[in-house]
Amino acid sequence: METSNILETHNLSKTPCRVDIIDTLLATEVALTEQQLKENLKFDYDRATIFRTLKTFSEKGIIHCVPVEGNEVYYAISKPNYKQTLSHAHFHCSTCGGVYCLNSISIAEPQLPDGFAAQGYELTINGCCRKCKE
Ligand SMILES: [Zn+2]
Ligand SMILES: [Zn+2]
Repeated sequence: METSNILETHNLSKTPCRVDIIDTLLATEVALTEQQLKENLKFDYDRATIFRTLKTFSEKGIIHCVPVEGNEVYYAISKPNYKQTLSHAHFHCSTCGGVYCLNSISIAEPQLPDGFAAQGYELTINGCCRKCKE
């Protein structure tokens, strides 16, 4: 999936900041905090522009937030079918701090007691990633 396709699919115009953010998130294997994202962008944008762009992307389902315990929010690009699967697991490496989307493993939907309706659920696995194990 290319950046311009992603923007076109969601009826978003190609602003430099939007293109830059998607390019950066597509190029990285891990999810990024707003600060890490800023450091990896090709150009400098003011904070408000980045914030607004991330908000738009979240609303459109282009990216999603990964809450990591005790830390800030990480942002990751969503797979095109992300909305269909209720959720996917994330992996947080306690050695390097890397946050990965685990799109390939399936997690069973929790069975709720009568009268409860789920809107989503989060599974974050803590441990040591492939890179740090080597
Ligand atoms: Zn690691
Ligand atoms: Zn994810």
